[in-house]
Amino acid sequence: MKSYREIIELHIPSRMDFVNITSQVAEAVRKSGIKEGLALVNSMHITSSVFINDDESGLHQDYARWLEKLAPYNASPQVYAHNRTGEDNGDAHHKRQIMGREVVVAVTDGKLDFGTWEQIFYGEFDGRRNKRVLIKIIGE
Ligand code: ZN
Repeated sequence: MKSYREIIELHIPSRMDFVNITSQVAEAVRKSGIKEGLALVNSMHITSSVFINDDESGLHQDYARWLEKLAPYNASPQVYAHNRTGEDNGDAHHKRQIMGREVVVAVTDGKLDFGTWEQIFYGEFDGRRNKRVLIKIIGE
């Protein structure tokens, strides 16, 4: 069995945003030389997500609004007990929890084996600093 590991570095200038990372993952699959296997893609941070959905800007606006409704940004330790640590990102941990940590995509014939509209996104909820995404590909 072969394996391949790569780190993608991101720096999102806003607090929350969604970035399509599909082409970087596809390039990692190509570099791995793996034809049949699995690709794991995960955020290495607890305030950001990796998820699969449609690359449609309206949907991303809907996500942002929905997440802000579920877990509004609020630096107050009265609102989020987590902010008692001196951090202000209690909301970001909640947003990440609901959008997930990782995705696993089948690799078939050397390509990501997606459904028609599936794309891989990085979801940032506490941006303006350097973040990392891990790609791990295993197979033959
Ligand atoms: Zn925190």
